Amino acid sequence: MKGRFAPSPTGRMHLGNVYSALLSWLSAKSQDGSWVLRIEDIDPQRSRPEFARQLIEDLTWLGLTFDEGPYYQSERGEIYEQYLSRLKEQGLTYPCYCTRADIMATQAPHESDGRIVYAGTCRPPSLRAGSQTGNHSLPPLRGKGKGMGATRLFVPDDDIVFSDLHYGTHSINLATHCGDFILRRADGAWAYQLAVVVDDALMGITEVVRGRDLLLSVPQQIYLHRLLGFTPPSFCHLPLLCNEQGQRLCKRDKSLDLGELRKSHTAEDIVGLLAYYAGLIDHQEKVSAQELVSEFSWAKVPTEDVEIKDKGTS
Ligand code: GLU
Repeated sequence: MKGRFAPSPTGRMHLGNVYSALLSWLSAKSQDGSWVLRIEDIDPQRSRPEFARQLIEDLTWLGLTFDEGPYYQSERGEIYEQYLSRLKEQGLTYPCYCTRADIMATQAPHESDGRIVYAGTCRPPSLRAGSQTGNHSLPPLRGKGKGMGATRLFVPDDDIVFSDLHYGTHSINLATHCGDFILRRADGAWAYQLAVVVDDALMGITEVVRGRDLLLSVPQQIYLHRLLGFTPPSFCHLPLLCNEQGQRLCKRDKSLDLGELRKSHTAEDIVGLLAYYAGLIDHQEKVSAQELVSEFSWAKVPTEDVEIKDKGTS
């Protein structure tokens, strides 16, 4: 059994990130498994090495020791290239020259929850009308002289059925859920979906634990695992920690990031607070991550999001 924590080094970790790290670590340790740290620094505009260094220091301070890694996605471009080539050879990818404005202009009104469903504007004729077997002898319809464009993956009008260990069974249609999705951006940066699937598979990850904001990435990831001949890991998503406005904690919630919290709390205070929110202990008390291993059970962890009250950490 192998779990992992795969943070993006775009700021200091906040309580929500630590909650995911802690539960992923506890799940692995309670199954006698190992835990991998992978730094997802593929976004050159947002990732910074100093955030990665701080993240490793924070995890160590919290007692969340990793058995393997840290791996850095920014060093793995050649590997992603190889797997992208396999998809290209299967005739399932195509260049896309749409701007964000083009894509927004084709959105149907019901798709207003922030999800972008690509309408297939640049999809070549060989991949239209459900044909998966077409060849690429036809030139792309658009984009002459516009650089390499983004690379998109064709998705069929099929349902992906999966069972999340915490949120149950889902059946999601790829075509209406996301449409053909991006594997590599026009600026050459690797897309999260490709990098995460290749890495989870090559690193032998058997269980993915992370916030439920990524639950809806599972269909794309399972589809990619299958196309590349991998066995998908099991998925176990977590409720989100929210601020008093009901919004998911993010790196802007400065008062709940570890830089602030470490000024007045010990690691055992923070682990104890998160263990309490996770239903692992019945009142807030100091506890170490190691002490929680024997207490850990998914059955205790809530599925509803958790609101962090102001001063909820004191
Ligand atoms: N790097 C992603 C993030 O920090 C998490 C990816 C994952 O766990 O699959 O949001």
